[in-house]
Amino acid sequence: MAGRRAKRCAWCGREPLKKIEIALSKKLLDFDPPLLLCLSCLGEETKCDEEELKYLAERFKEEGCGLFK
Ligand SMILES: [Zn+2]
Repeated sequence: MAGRRAKRCAWCGREPLKKIEIALSKKLLDFDPPLLLCLSCLGEETKCDEEELKYLAERFKEEGCGLFK
């Protein structure tokens, strides 16, 4: 993280966002520049609960999505 500002949730301001939260935000929300949300805000936005989001992240990872390495 040296020299890089911690990413924070665009809605609730929680920081730092985890890698999985950033990756899911980019993958599930189609915003440019990306809207980065924490898991609970992402859940509100996508109508998924956190378990579903984590499951989705695992699936994307298995599919070889570069965001989830
Ligand atoms: Zn949030």
